[in-house]
Amino acid sequence: MKLKKIVKELTAHRLIIVSLSLVLLLLVNILFTRTNKDTDKVAFIPEEKMETIEIVEIPFVSSIQDKISTVEAVLLPGSNLNDLLITQGLSRDQASSVVFEMSPYVDLRRMRAGEIFTLEFINDDFEKLSMNTSNNMIVEVFRDNSVENGYRAVEKERQLNSFVKHVSGTIEDSLYNSALDSGMSANILTELIHLLSFDVDFQRDIQQGDTFDVAFEEIYDNNGEKVEDGQILCARLMTDGREIEFYYYTDLEGKSDYFNIDGQTIRKTLLKTPINGAYITSGYGMRVSPITGYNKKHQGIDFGAPRGTPIYASGDGVIESAYYSRVYGNFIELRHVNGYRTLYAHMTNYARGMRKGIRVKQGQIIGYVGSTGMSTGPHLHYEISYWGTKVNPSTVKSPPGKSLKDKDLVLFENLKNSYIASFLEKI
Ligand SMILES: [Zn+2]
Repeated sequence: MKLKKIVKELTAHRLIIVSLSLVLLLLVNILFTRTNKDTDKVAFIPEEKMETIEIVEIPFVSSIQDKISTVEAVLLPGSNLNDLLITQGLSRDQASSVVFEMSPYVDLRRMRAGEIFTLEFINDDFEKLSMNTSNNMIVEVFRDNSVENGYRAVEKERQLNSFVKHVSGTIEDSLYNSALDSGMSANILTELIHLLSFDVDFQRDIQQGDTFDVAFEEIYDNNGEKVEDGQILCARLMTDGREIEFYYYTDLEGKSDYFNIDGQTIRKTLLKTPINGAYITSGYGMRVSPITGYNKKHQGIDFGAPRGTPIYASGDGVIESAYYSRVYGNFIELRHVNGYRTLYAHMTNYARGMRKGIRVKQGQIIGYVGSTGMSTGPHLHYEISYWGTKVNPSTVKSPPGKSLKDKDLVLFENLKNSYIASFLEKI
């Protein structure tokens, strides 16, 4: 009986042990399976795929349903950017964040009334503020949820486009009024007058009925607003039977200037020495013998040269005087543009056809060295005056005269012909 009981108990024990072992095996199996599965999973995802997941993460694409609106707000007197933003519906926090981000780029305290800000809203939520800081730069403050205060600023170049504008007209009263009437800006007109003034005397030459043609660039931003005037590309003025024209060209060295139809620079000044092979015998301001008649101050320069040596017009101009005087002998006075005059004295003879009112070109022979009038020997007495005041010819500034050559001349001709075809022949 006692043995039976032991066997029974043993059987029970074995049963328990077996069952416990089974449970244990099962648990281990489950655990192992799980662990294995997890490991498998981690090992299975390739790195590229994880990267893909990151990239796909938050691309902000405004859907078609998003309503984007732009507002241009003008800064009012006594107001500031913060007020302006709150008026436009930004919260106080948003406004102060935007101002904070903007401040390194713009001196907000010195901002003037009339300054324009462009605000962009997406579905009525503020998205972006932009402001032009100069003609070609813009500052933008835009939403960026990855930064602490939600906004970030960037300064960048504005997208600018250049357009060519062509203006032509007939002068009614003055070039100034006629040009402004025909749609030219004051800046372009000032530049035009400056460039024409190398050839045109605006006090005298311009007459009613003269015509002009000008092509120039205007620079616009992406919103179609004019940012600034660009370069004058070409111009033609018909006055007094003359055609004055010039073209803008950038040479192969990268230097830009205006050239006439022959490819010569239009920037002319007076010749300092209107005679070849001469030497200065008496300079400006020196005292000379009373016999010459200049007993106070010598108001010109004397060039010693043999009798008959040709004398050149030192600039384009019109003969104002050409007659014999007791002091100057046979002399010529030329009137140049914009207040300059030159005088050539003691000539033995005038060149053929020289008389009052005749127009001469720079370098043209106007007479020949002599010793007429109060003179002690053959020489040219040469004076320059500016609005009636004598100036020292040797101090008159003259930029190097420049003519286009070789490849530059070929390229210039091509450009000039295209300008003529595009603008100057479309009157
Ligand atoms: Zn002299």
